[in-house]
Amino acid sequence: YGDYNQKIDYVFKIVLIGDSAVGKSQLLARFARNEFSVESKATIGVEFQTKTLVIDHKTVKAQIWDTAGQERYRAVTSAYYRGAVGAMLVYDMTKRQSFDHMTRWLEELRGHADKNIVIMLIGNKSDLGSLRAVPTEDAEEFAQRENLFFMETSALEATNVETAFLTILTEIYRIIS
Ligand code: GDP
Ligand code: MG
Repeated sequence: YGDYNQKIDYVFKIVLIGDSAVGKSQLLARFARNEFSVESKATIGVEFQTKTLVIDHKTVKAQIWDTAGQERYRAVTSAYYRGAVGAMLVYDMTKRQSFDHMTRWLEELRGHADKNIVIMLIGNKSDLGSLRAVPTEDAEEFAQRENLFFMETSALEATNVETAFLTILTEIYRIIS
């Protein structure tokens, strides 16, 4: 296996948060394994996947954590956030409520995580443009106000998924190195 003997320079823990069914697990599957499944099962138990990449000639292992069907408010435990240097705050752009809930997910995150954590807001399911319920400008405005990176993605079509993860990882690298 390719990276068996690879020297890892950095391990970055990134957590995925947001309402149930917004596509967190599929974003992770797409990034880590380039897979997508329509019949995505609810995640059981805390899970993470890793992907090793090279940033600025350094080997960075991204350890990305996915919620264990704990997406109810206050159900995600502090162990989940512990040590995280990045967070992806995911909503479904066809579900206004999932965007409106970003405020409390952010509050949860800021209550538990390191204050220097790099946060990216993700509007997922951009392939369903005709069903859009969250204008890009609303999300941009929120991201700007809260000092978050922002990107719209489609795990299904693999649009911007790699870019989103690379952006947050590069920013973390920039801060840490
Ligand atoms: P999670 O609960 O946030 O982990 O959401 P999942 O990753 O399990 O996805 C929930 C549902 O949305 C599944 O039926 C996925 O197939 C679907 N889904 C996830 N990402 C996308 C996407 O980018 N586009 C579309 N059309 N469906 C998606
Ligand atoms: Mg899931």
